[in-house]
Amino acid sequence: MPTARAYATPSAKAPFEKMDIERRDPGPRDVLIKIAFCGICHSDIHTGRNEWGEAHFPLVPGHEIAGTVEAVGSDVTDFSIGDRVGVGCMVDSCRECENCKAGEEQYCLNGNVGTYNAVGKDGKWTDGGYSSHIVVDQDFVLRIPDGIELDEAAPLLCAGITLYSPLKHWGAGPGKKVAIVGMGGLGHVGVKIAAALGADVTVLSSSLSKEDDGLRFGANHYYATKDESTFEKLAGSFDLIVNTVSAHLPMDKYLSLLRLNGTLVNVGAPAEPLEVPAFALIPMRRSWAGSMIGGIRETQEMLDFCAEHGIGAEVERIRGEQIDTAWDRVVDSDVRYRFVIDTSTF
Ligand code: NAP
Ligand code: ZN
Repeated sequence: MPTARAYATPSAKAPFEKMDIERRDPGPRDVLIKIAFCGICHSDIHTGRNEWGEAHFPLVPGHEIAGTVEAVGSDVTDFSIGDRVGVGCMVDSCRECENCKAGEEQYCLNGNVGTYNAVGKDGKWTDGGYSSHIVVDQDFVLRIPDGIELDEAAPLLCAGITLYSPLKHWGAGPGKKVAIVGMGGLGHVGVKIAAALGADVTVLSSSLSKEDDGLRFGANHYYATKDESTFEKLAGSFDLIVNTVSAHLPMDKYLSLLRLNGTLVNVGAPAEPLEVPAFALIPMRRSWAGSMIGGIRETQEMLDFCAEHGIGAEVERIRGEQIDTAWDRVVDSDVRYRFVIDTSTF
């Protein structure tokens, strides 16, 4: 069995520890990946701190994985040793339900297998990308185009697809006014993708402190939501709003920014419920929606789109022993704009 060096958190409040974990022997359809970088997603923190319910410990988080192929099983046709590859939030699904057949494995009716904190088909708990190696079925491995550096590609595997999928689904493009709420890991990639799709892009951030960056990423407008006049100025403006905020927000105020038939898509997943008064939706036939990552086919499409448009995440590389500090900084919104763990430091 291949052994991997990993960083695991032994319980919800405990600091990370370096340890060896076992990966399965690559089966005929498996790809053994040497991980170069793994992004730190806020979902890792929600999970690792038991904000979404009881997690399984020790927990090796990480679902923004970029690296190279080290070995392939005998039936692997899509990948060869040395290929640049990525793995996102899923490593398997039933492949038989109507959603899997439609390429929407994230909505697998029998439950997709998460890259970490999930039970795989072999009955074992999955371990994520805060590790040196991972073994994944070839159908859940993505190809990273040459145009994107591996560290800048890693966050696209979750943050990138989580924004690309709703932006495409709800038709972000020329003539559409799109707002991205929260300019963190998800939000900053969303700004870049929405701008590349040709939409008129507005950032709604807590303050104006990241305005120069937002405009550099392609936003046309930037507003502070702590300034109450923002909600008066922008009332009834947007066709589409994507909320990426990891904390509770007053939904009625954000819904008031939608024009007739507009949609607010929630991708941020705070532990606390979000409330929506009926009269925030009814007057302008507004919709309130959710969206979860994206399917494998769409994730490849997103990576190819990002390479074509020169889009990568803005990253700060960290060493393995800096994960605890990095988590605290993510919670404090003190990150520009995604931490990626350099696994060569393990
Ligand atoms: P992040 O890097 O921490 O960014 C979140 C941003 O939200 C912050 O940068 C900040 O932006 C804003 N924010 C944070 N706390 C706030 C508060 N109290 N009030 C107002 N704004 C606040 O997190 P992320 O990795 O982008 O993830 C964001 C959320 O999406 C998390 O809940 C995560 O679990 C979820 N997620 C969902 C999916 C999905 O498939 N739906 C996938 C991945 C992640 P400003 O400084 O600009 O205000
Ligand atoms: Zn994520």
